[in-house]
Amino acid sequence: MGAKVIDGKAFAADVRARVAAHVARLKEEQGIVPGLAVVLVGEDPASQVYVRNKHASTIEVGMASFEHRLSAETGEAELLALIDKLNADPAVHGILVQLPLPGHLNSELVINRIDPAKDVDGFHISNVGLLGTGQKSMVPCTPLGCLMMLRDHHGKLAGLNAVVVGRSNIVGKPMAQLLLGDSCTVTIAHSRTKDLAEVCKRADILVAAVGRPEMITGEMVKPGATVIDVGINRIERDGKAKLVGDVHYDSAAAVAGAITPVPGGVGPMTIACLLANTLTACCRANGLPEPEGLTA
Ligand code: NDP
Repeated sequence: MGAKVIDGKAFAADVRARVAAHVARLKEEQGIVPGLAVVLVGEDPASQVYVRNKHASTIEVGMASFEHRLSAETGEAELLALIDKLNADPAVHGILVQLPLPGHLNSELVINRIDPAKDVDGFHISNVGLLGTGQKSMVPCTPLGCLMMLRDHHGKLAGLNAVVVGRSNIVGKPMAQLLLGDSCTVTIAHSRTKDLAEVCKRADILVAAVGRPEMITGEMVKPGATVIDVGINRIERDGKAKLVGDVHYDSAAAVAGAITPVPGGVGPMTIACLLANTLTACCRANGLPEPEGLTA
């Protein structure tokens, strides 16, 4: 029997609908409109697409969207001054600085200038520390989306063996922390891991965040496991451009119990979770209860 396909597109639509319903209630009952500010420096084409999509999704759920497009030559002082202004603006509940920044800007310095309470990407060092110590934080959007799908599929995750392949600060590490927070037994694998296939094969939950097209094959998957494919790789096959994950979908789906496709799996959840984080930040800022099921 083939694996159940976890439909991230449908799940993300449901998350956005829940966010929109909560936003409508906030407006009606409290007169509050959650606001997300997105800062884009430079003309990177991929970043421009992401920022456009974020703007459209923000408006669609009824939030206020504040876009700040700065030239590639923008200096650090100017960018930091804008962040200070957004930190102080009560209409702005979430701030996202689109990465990567042009080379002359220090990303760490810029990200750490954002008020941690408004850091809806969850990259501020305070949020990293809070997550690592199991405290309430802003959680990075991609791993949060993976966690939501896993909770939905499994119910409780406690006691399951989870293997996260990849140890980046934006995906692998926070993913591992979140799974640990849900009492999984967590292994983090990376480029120096010995016998990766054997390590992966122990996983009830296998998360691939490697950035290598179709590297995780069916032989590396435990029968019945849940496979979450974070990878987004653009390749050319038979003369055509194609988007593939870090998992070799066909061979893994033949063995797994459930699997996320690429496209249509983790990807759509990332923006949905950005909106969920903005709503959470807005509720916290106003001392209101947090939206249920939309946080870690
Ligand atoms: P990084 O390049 O920052 O990290 C990749 C990780 O994979 C590293 O920890 C690296 O190990 C590990 N790795 C590389 N090669 C191997 C190997 N042969 N065996 C085992 N581990 C290996 O990538 P990101 O975490 O930023 O992204 C991972 C993937 O997820 C990419 O395809 C990216 O496009 C995608 N992505 C998707 C998002 C979404 O919205 N769906 C959002 C963010 C990312 P080491 O540390 O030892 O070098």
